[in-house]
Amino acid sequence: MALTDPSEANAKEGGLRLGIFGGTFDPIHIGHLIVAEEARAYLHLNRVIFVPARVSPFKLQGTAFSPEDRFHMVELAIQDNPYFAASRVDIDRQGPSFTVDTLRAMHRQYGPQAQLFFIMGADSLQGMGAWRAPEEIIRLAQLIAISRPGFRIDMHTLEQKIPGISQVTHIIDTLQLGISSTNIRNRLRQGLPIKYQVPAPVEAYIYSHNLVKELGQLEHG
Ligand code: ATP
Ligand code: MG
Repeated sequence: MALTDPSEANAKEGGLRLGIFGGTFDPIHIGHLIVAEEARAYLHLNRVIFVPARVSPFKLQGTAFSPEDRFHMVELAIQDNPYFAASRVDIDRQGPSFTVDTLRAMHRQYGPQAQLFFIMGADSLQGMGAWRAPEEIIRLAQLIAISRPGFRIDMHTLEQKIPGISQVTHIIDTLQLGISSTNIRNRLRQGLPIKYQVPAPVEAYIYSHNLVKELGQLEHG
């Protein structure tokens, strides 16, 4: 990809600072965008790359919306932010999307000089002990953990499961965004408005492609 942003040209010597933001984005919402922008600003990232999962290892029953619809909605949501990009690397890889594979792919694409920062909400961070190869994840990337209502960030307990994780984790506790894709899907099922919870082009995409009919029953969460 061409380096059009002057901050990227300046960063070339020390290596690009790349935020990697994984998730199912089922659908993407403004919480994701606010979290990504906060991480970018706090850690002076040159770019944040949104990486929609094909299948989450923790949601093997699948997503509500198809990978292509989720990817397209991510593209629509980020189009007005020059620092944001989307990658198909997980969508195009068969099988569950393991973060360790995503990070290896990013290192192959951007070279060993690139500094990777994996962005995640407090719920994801708390669950990391159960992820594939977490000790390799923290060798490949630093972590940016963002507060989320209902989830505690407990680095002490996490450090016992994944030694060394505290040293590579940046905690951002300035946000408390009570918004989730689960809640948005439930609102759609109930015919409630999602205006302002997702960017306007994402809302328009959902209605114009009749995606509401793809949703099954109400979910807990
Ligand atoms: P779902 O309810 O389907 O799990 P979600 O809103 O949690 O959807 P995901 O795609 O699962 O969205 O999340 C992608 C990443 O974004 C995760 O690391 C998650 O913790 C983070 N994230 C999502 N929403 C928020 C939020 N409101 N505050 C902080 N982090 C968030
Ligand atoms: Mg989630």
